[in-house]
Amino acid sequence: MNGVHGIAAVDRRTTGDDARKRNIAAGTALAELLRTTLGPTGRDKMLVGDGTVIVSNDGASIVDRLSLDSPAARLLADVARAQRGELGDGSTTAVVLAGALLAEAERLFDDGVHPTTVIAGYADASRRARSRLGELVSAPDGEAARRNVVSTAITGRWDERRTAFLADLSTRAHRAARDADAGGANPSAITIHGVAGGATTDSELLDGLVIDTDASSTSLSSIPADVPRHLSDARIALLDDELTIQSPESARYSVDGPDGLRRARDHERDEYRRYVETLRNHGVDVCFCQKSIDDGLRARLARAGILAFERTRQDEVHKLSRATGARPVMRLDALDPSAVGRADELERVRLGGGSFVVVREASSRQVSVVLRGSPEHVVDETERIVRDGIALLRTLDARPGLVPGGGATEVALALAVRAFGRCVDDRRALAVDAFADAIETIPVSLARNAGMDPIDSLLELRRRHADGERSVGIDGDSRSVTDVAARGVVEPVRLADRVVANATDAATLVLRIDDVIRTRGTSDGGAHDHDHDHDHDHGGVSGDPGGYPWAISH
Ligand code: ADP
Ligand code: MG
Repeated sequence: MNGVHGIAAVDRRTTGDDARKRNIAAGTALAELLRTTLGPTGRDKMLVGDGTVIVSNDGASIVDRLSLDSPAARLLADVARAQRGELGDGSTTAVVLAGALLAEAERLFDDGVHPTTVIAGYADASRRARSRLGELVSAPDGEAARRNVVSTAITGRWDERRTAFLADLSTRAHRAARDADAGGANPSAITIHGVAGGATTDSELLDGLVIDTDASSTSLSSIPADVPRHLSDARIALLDDELTIQSPESARYSVDGPDGLRRARDHERDEYRRYVETLRNHGVDVCFCQKSIDDGLRARLARAGILAFERTRQDEVHKLSRATGARPVMRLDALDPSAVGRADELERVRLGGGSFVVVREASSRQVSVVLRGSPEHVVDETERIVRDGIALLRTLDARPGLVPGGGATEVALALAVRAFGRCVDDRRALAVDAFADAIETIPVSLARNAGMDPIDSLLELRRRHADGERSVGIDGDSRSVTDVAARGVVEPVRLADRVVANATDAATLVLRIDDVIRTRGTSDGGAHDHDHDHDHDHGGVSGDPGGYPWAISH
C-alpha cells in the first residue's frame, strides 16, 4: 500500500466530472475491445507482447493478458475474472454490459441527470431484471440439457467436433463426481491431468483418483517384477516428509576410519530394516512420500513388495488422504494403524508418455479426467475448457434452471425493464430506460458479430418477444433470429443473474468515483501496483491513463 503519502501531488489528482469522464472512457474502451469477441462468431484478438503472441477470443483470457492502466478498466477486468473463476462463464458478457451501462450513463450526465439519480435508476432496473429472470426459467431436463449448457459456453473456442466431445466429457465428469458425493459435486472429487500427446478425442474419464508419479524416480520400468501392477485391498501410508537415513551423531566425524565406515553402513542397514519393518508391520503395500526417498531404501522396499513413490505433490497427498482415509505422518515412527488407509484397488498405468497410479476406493469415489492433445498449449486450453465446463455445471447445481442464450434472455429482460420504467415517475425513469438499452447491447453485438444487420435484428427480436416468443434470439449457426433454446443454446439462470448483478455493481462503482488520486507507484508508465497474481513482465507499459486504457505487457 502506498498509504497517505501519495496524495502530495495535486497535479496527479483528477476530480468531479473530469474523473468520471476519464473512467467511463476507459471502461467503455475495454468493453469495446471485448465486444467484437462476443458469441460463437466473435472474432479473435491477437495479443502481441514481448516475445509472445497469443490469439484468443475468450474474454477472461484477453483481460488477463492486458496490463490495465486505468482503475475503472481494472474494476471491469475484475468482473471478468470473477465470472470465469466463480461461475465458469460470462466474462465477456459482463464486461460488455458494464461498458454499455457506463456509455448510457455518460449520455444521461450530458443531458443533466445527476450521477446519484443514474445509480438509483440502475439499481431499480437491475432488481427488476433479476426478478423477471426467475419467470423465464425452464427446468433443466437431464443430461442433454447439461451438455447443451456446456457447449453453449464453449462454442467458438474450438471446432464443433471437439466442442461436443469436451462438453460430453465435462458433463460426465461432473455427474460422476456429483453422484459420488450425494449431490454436492465436491470440486476435489475431480482430478484433472493434462498429458501432452495424442488427440483431444483421446482424452478420457477414469474412475478413481489418478496420481501423477512421473516426478518419482520410481519409474515403472525400475520397479521389480515381483511388485504387482495391480493391487486389491491395498494398504496405503502417506508421509509428509522425506524417507532417508538420519545420521547418528557419531557418524558425522568418524566415517573416515574403517570402523566408522562399518558403523555407518550398519547404521544405514539397521535404519533401512527398521523402515521396511515398520511398513510391513502395518501391512502397508504402498507408500506415498512428499519428499525424496533414498535410492537404497526404495530398492529394499521394492524387494519387500512395498511400492514407494516419492515427491508426491501436497495436493495429491490431500486427495489420497481423502480417498483412502490415510492420515499423512511426519515421520515413519509416528505411523500407527489409524494412519494407514486403504483402497479397493490400486493400479500402475502408463498414459501417454507418463506413469500414473490409479487409486479406486468405493467409499469415496473419485473421478479423474486425463486430457490429451498436442502441442502442450492445446492440452492447456482443453484443461481450461473442461474446468470452465465443470464450474458452470456447479453454477447450474447451485440454482437449477435454464434460460435461453443467444441474447434472447437479454431481450426479454429489456422488455420487462422498459415496462417497469413507464411506472417510475421521476428522473430515475430515464436511467431505467437507459438500463434497458444497455442490456440490448448483448443481442445487438451477437447479431453484428454474426454478420447480421444489428438494427433489423433487434427490431425483429423486440417484436417477436412482445408477441410472447420468449426464447427467440440470435442463432450463431444459421445467422438468423430464431428460437435458440430449441437449438440447445441455453445457460444456467444463475449465470444470467450474476452477469446482470456483477455488471451493474461494477458500473455503479465506476460511476461513484469522482476523485482519482494517483498514489506513489501508480505513476504513468508504471502499473507496478497491478494486483493480480499472474506472471506479467511489468516493463514497457504505455503512458497516459486518460487515453488508451490498456497496454499489452506480456
Ligand atoms: P462470455 O465470455 O460472456 O461467455 P462468449 O464469447 O462465450 O462470452 O459469448 C457468450 C454469448 O454467446 C452468450 O450470450 C451465449 O448465449 C451466446 N451463444 C453461445 N452459443 C451460441 C450459439 N450457438 N448461437 C447464438 N449465441 C450463442
Ligand atoms: Mg462463454
